[in-house]
Amino acid sequence: MVTTARRAHVSEKAGRFTESVIREMTRQALAHGAVNLAQGFPDFGAPDDIKRAAVEAIDRDVNQYAITWGARDLRQALAQKTAWHLGLEIDPEREVTVTCGATEGMIATLMATVDPGEEVVIFEPFYENYAPDAILSGARPVYVRLHAPDWTFDPDELRAAFSERTKAIVLCNPNNPLGKVFSRQELQLIADLCMEHDVLCITDEIYEHILYDGAEHVCMAQLEGMRERTVVVNSMSKTYSVTGWRVGYCIAPPHITAAIRKVHDFLTVGAAAPLQAAGAYALSLPREYYHHLSADYQARRDLFMPALEKAGFGISVPKGAYYVMTDISRFGFRNDVEFAMHLVKEVGVACVPGSSFYSRPEDGANQVRFCFCKRDETLLAAVEKLSKLSA
Ligand code: PLP
Repeated sequence: MVTTARRAHVSEKAGRFTESVIREMTRQALAHGAVNLAQGFPDFGAPDDIKRAAVEAIDRDVNQYAITWGARDLRQALAQKTAWHLGLEIDPEREVTVTCGATEGMIATLMATVDPGEEVVIFEPFYENYAPDAILSGARPVYVRLHAPDWTFDPDELRAAFSERTKAIVLCNPNNPLGKVFSRQELQLIADLCMEHDVLCITDEIYEHILYDGAEHVCMAQLEGMRERTVVVNSMSKTYSVTGWRVGYCIAPPHITAAIRKVHDFLTVGAAAPLQAAGAYALSLPREYYHHLSADYQARRDLFMPALEKAGFGISVPKGAYYVMTDISRFGFRNDVEFAMHLVKEVGVACVPGSSFYSRPEDGANQVRFCFCKRDETLLAAVEKLSKLSA
């Protein structure tokens, strides 16, 4: 047998990022029988009527490929909802792409809009997918810090991140992992820079309906001059508690949508057809549905935050989304990973080490993230365990 020198058979790109730490912590939670407050998915049922809509769609034999960029009734429902919710008129035929979750929406958008070597500005700490997304699309990420404790950015630092190589900025609003809701003033500052430098804003608004204490969600596309340079990435996952359905969408001007649709088609062809049909039903729910969603999450937040503080965590109370980034300095561990492993193995609660949300792991060494999208029983079980932790 002729032997040849061994090739790695893996790409340089794939070598530049690790497996998801969030999903790994879910596996750790299962292995140690711990309460999983790591990965952001509800442990309660999805609304019965939405589930019924999916079952009925399968019964009606909505079981073949949908139109690659999304079933017409879902795109129409999206246009109607976007009109009443955001006050934006969008053309369902030319400005919407239905994707396999916001996850595919984000990577398809980056691949459709950014060329290798171009820069993408990303606020840090960031939802961990954005860094691999940037690498896979060939973009060079440029990070801008959101500073603790209130997670604001320094306008000068943001301005300094923009250059002639900047193609896009990625925003996550309301924010995972911080629970921050960007104010209108902050968004205007970002918008002004985008317009000055002819930059695209890709905004992940998957938590748009999870807001607390009357916080207002402003969509970047609502700001004057931004509609034509914004891609809104969104999903059914969090709003309708169906993270496993994998139905998301991108809203963008027609020429950008055309590029996203091409990338999307060759990546996945399309999201599950019967679940798109159920999506059309979900998107047509009345406003009250969204009021209840926020109120229920606010009650969970209010149950969990005082317990975290009592246990010794430093927190800044989230204004949106269902996460809290905590400061763990008081516990005296060497770093976040050591603390998170102690928590999952010895205390019985899974969280996500803060370092997985930073480009330089040491910047998150004193932080861990908890999610609170769980039943009261689950949160109370976690509270009970955390109360044994000594700060
Ligand atoms: N974007 C953000 C900010 C998230 O927090 C998540 C999931 O936690 C996703 C995207 C993934 O969304 P999807 O389930 O629609 O792919």
